[in-house]
Amino acid sequence: MIHKSYTDENHELSGSCLCGRVRWHARGPFRHVVACHCRECRKWSGHFFPGIRSRSDRIVIEGEESLRWYRSSEFARRGFCGECGSTLFWQSGSITNIAAGSVDGETALGIIQHIHTGEAGDYYDL
Ligand SMILES: [Zn+2]
Ligand SMILES: [Zn+2]
Repeated sequence: MIHKSYTDENHELSGSCLCGRVRWHARGPFRHVVACHCRECRKWSGHFFPGIRSRSDRIVIEGEESLRWYRSSEFARRGFCGECGSTLFWQSGSITNIAAGSVDGETALGIIQHIHTGEAGDYYDL
């Protein structure tokens, strides 16, 4: 089950923020999308955070001068575009969850899990 929730390592994805200043390219394996409904992710993203788990060293970022990081906890930081504000990355050391909404083109991925649903907003159903 857990095994199949990852793509193979030839899977490639690219993405960008709304204004296009920050661009990223990444190679798998990627975990399929996990939607986090915790309070922090809801505040940060404006709804819930759909993350594509990836290895940090397999992501190449362009336009890093526009990328800002917010340290949201002792073990994680959150990356966003300092120009347009787009939510891009949740990162904890060697693990980065890429915002699924930042992907350009087809992801060939799907949501496999919703987590921290006890903190979900009362304005939507799961
Ligand atoms: Zn931007
Ligand atoms: Zn969360």
